[in-house]
Amino acid sequence: MSKYIMVIDDSPTIRVSVELALKQLGFMIKQAENGQDALDKISEIKNGGDEVVLCLSDINMPVLNGIEFITEFRKVDKFTPVVVLTTEAEKDIIQKGKEAGASGWIIKPFQAEDLLNVVKRFVK
Ligand SMILES: [Mg+2]
Repeated sequence: MSKYIMVIDDSPTIRVSVELALKQLGFMIKQAENGQDALDKISEIKNGGDEVVLCLSDINMPVLNGIEFITEFRKVDKFTPVVVLTTEAEKDIIQKGKEAGASGWIIKPFQAEDLLNVVKRFVK
């Protein structure tokens, strides 16, 4: 059984930089470009018998945004941590994220080390 970290952001640059930063942890990484894409890919992973151990999600995305993603995800998965990637300007969104079921957040732009520290808190 493989363990996946979902990287959900409509910016390919962010997705790639997050994936590169997390590579050393040894988890599988799956990129998604919005909340709906993430829900679809999470279903595929679970249907394939694998596990999602963490979601890192942007807030502002087309189709299904980060808050909507967390709300939908929490209907089917109460426990897998979701860490929100947000900008300083969106700080009030953190409260909305918490209410929707987010587990933590990271303020963009972030250093690879900050990201690793947060991720290590949530996945063992
Ligand atoms: Mg975005």
